[in-house]
Amino acid sequence: MANFDKFETRAIRKQTERSQQKEHSVPIFATSSFVFDSAEEARAMFAEEIPGNIYSRYSNPSNDEFIEKMCLLEGTEDGMPTASGMASMFISIAPFVKSGDHILAARSLFGSTHQILTTILPKWGVSHSYVDLNDLEEFERQIKPNTKMIFVETPSNPALDLVDLEYLGKLAAAHDIILNVDNCFATPYLQNPAKYGAGLVTHSATKFIDGQGRVLGGTVLGKKELIEEVRFFARHTGPSMSPFHGWILSKSLETLAVRMEKHCENALNLAEELEGHSDVDWVKYPHLKSHPQYELAIKQMRHGGGLVTFELKGGLERGRKFLDALEMISLTPNLGDTRSIATHPASTTHSKLTEEERLAVGISPGLIRVSVGLEHIDDIKEDLFRAIEVSK
Ligand SMILES: *Cc1c(COP(=O)(O)O)cnc(C)c1O
Repeated sequence: MANFDKFETRAIRKQTERSQQKEHSVPIFATSSFVFDSAEEARAMFAEEIPGNIYSRYSNPSNDEFIEKMCLLEGTEDGMPTASGMASMFISIAPFVKSGDHILAARSLFGSTHQILTTILPKWGVSHSYVDLNDLEEFERQIKPNTKMIFVETPSNPALDLVDLEYLGKLAAAHDIILNVDNCFATPYLQNPAKYGAGLVTHSATKFIDGQGRVLGGTVLGKKELIEEVRFFARHTGPSMSPFHGWILSKSLETLAVRMEKHCENALNLAEELEGHSDVDWVKYPHLKSHPQYELAIKQMRHGGGLVTFELKGGLERGRKFLDALEMISLTPNLGDTRSIATHPASTTHSKLTEEERLAVGISPGLIRVSVGLEHIDDIKEDLFRAIEVSK
């Protein structure tokens, strides 16, 4: 038989067995628990001697369908779905550290991941160091005997800086440290960190994976022996995904490839046009030749992604006027939606950081982040360039 192993096909055609109704599309299993045929079967399932669903905090066929597809698409052995992206970040870290351990992380991280490392884990005696994404030698220098994990996001939010995954994969292997990559911005369609040796790959499925702004969700994917620990931790602490969300997200995956193709095409088109505009101070997009890590972006990302950042001449004040002048593009903190979204990170998502901390992760006061949606590119550009004119 043929393998039918192309990305698009796997995202659509993977299907757990059909029920007795012989449905074509995967059904939703809205049930909190599952029935045993006998007392002996119940005993054997609890003892994990035989597989099977017991209770939806542990597993549910709707969630299995989603997570098994995610594993196929990321090229990982196993995975665990969670209620949100942050639940995934937390359970991908917590099972692997104890008091006295150390985590090495990229300085630019999603705000709540930052809080886990700087506020929550230190209470339990787990320390951390931050390193600039593009200072690879510093990653090596900062490894300590008690370092258990390297945690990075690439591309970073919102500066769109990259880190060399091949380098970090080798470094982590040489020191027997787990490399954990938040692959939310790239999605499995653009980049597969496991290929470079990441033991854990985490996602907020809330973003491009759902892609339609409907649900929260997350995944931890990775090596079997690591996911077993994650699963144990999740089973007993309960950050489980709702079967309804698992069902939605497994349908979302069926269109991930076509959506990402269009997000990236629209984003590149917009980035190129911004680059030529006289009112734009600078623009950053991984697959623009002017990106300082363009070569790396071409090597490890299929396309440049759905986000573009730029700054208008006139900085912060001009940026605010620009945002207020937008008519179609939404002002909301989400990203990875069919609808284009504009954000001013310094006053919203990254307002908790000091000005100095923001500059250290590439967030200048006037930086605007656009999550480029799937509306017609002419309409996106019309709204955006008209707002630039109005903001003068
Ligand atoms: C949104 C986001 C998260 C958190 O995900 P939620 O689903 O909102 O909990 C984590 N990492 C990155 C990079 C994100 O963009």
